[in-house]
Amino acid sequence: MTLIVYSHPDCLAHKPPAGHPERPERLEAALAGIEQLDQPILRNAHPVAFTDLERVHGSNYLQSLRDLDTSGALLSLDPDTYLGRNSLQAARLAAGAVCEGVDQVMADPAHAVFAVVRPPGHHAESSQAMGFCLLNNIAIGAARAADVHGLDRIAVVDFDVHHGNGTEAILRDHARFLFLSSHQSPLYPGTGDPAKTRAGNVINATLTAHSGSDEFRALWTEHLLPAVDAFRPQMILVSAGFDGHWRDPLAQLQLKDQDYYWIGEQLMGLARKHASGRLVASLEGGYDLAAITESVLAFGEAIE
Ligand SMILES: [Zn+2]
Repeated sequence: MTLIVYSHPDCLAHKPPAGHPERPERLEAALAGIEQLDQPILRNAHPVAFTDLERVHGSNYLQSLRDLDTSGALLSLDPDTYLGRNSLQAARLAAGAVCEGVDQVMADPAHAVFAVVRPPGHHAESSQAMGFCLLNNIAIGAARAADVHGLDRIAVVDFDVHHGNGTEAILRDHARFLFLSSHQSPLYPGTGDPAKTRAGNVINATLTAHSGSDEFRALWTEHLLPAVDAFRPQMILVSAGFDGHWRDPLAQLQLKDQDYYWIGEQLMGLARKHASGRLVASLEGGYDLAAITESVLAFGEAIE
């Protein structure tokens, strides 16, 4: 088995201010992990089509991104999300990578896909940039899987240490999707409380600060993986964030790179069981460069 990786050098050209954790070097660190895999197939992504964006994002929001993009100035869209020259192009490549991944696994389910891209996407809501995210890459890919490929059961799985609030807001109450997220709580963005989750197609599960491998694996084994299994997905999309790693500076979980191998193996097993192996992962968070390289390598080994 060989992993197919979509990325693009222009994803490096999105440049938040100096000192910002979501920096171009993250992508280089992730690709350094990919390079250690056994002969991955690397492909350049293409920018997402407007019709793919329109399924998920409001037209006024998309127009405002285009208007701001032409100004050339570095603009703050929320307290920690920036749009500068080349940012929209990077975001369009990131979302395009996931869409191409979806098409790829539909055409050839034998190879899983990993979109190794930035900026990340899972905090972006329909009409709002948020938490380093401009376009919701994974939701855009999920919507394409439903509308273009006609799938009725698409699981979107998010193991980033932060709650995927944007993905949940976009997918909730749409029965063709099941959204599952494990995240540290309390932590940014403050959403994803299981007790307050009302949508029947959303499952949130939380870990307290300083939880490690045992708690993470138990949560997935007892609550989240059985729900994916029962849903019998025709495709699994993965918001793959590696900021639950013990070295990560933005959160306090204690995960190790082996835990990312483990979750990748579990998800790949379910993809093979129900979805002929169709699995598309997309890079979300992860802010320690060495941890990103190790974690991407471990996760990649599990899905290759
Ligand atoms: Zn995160």
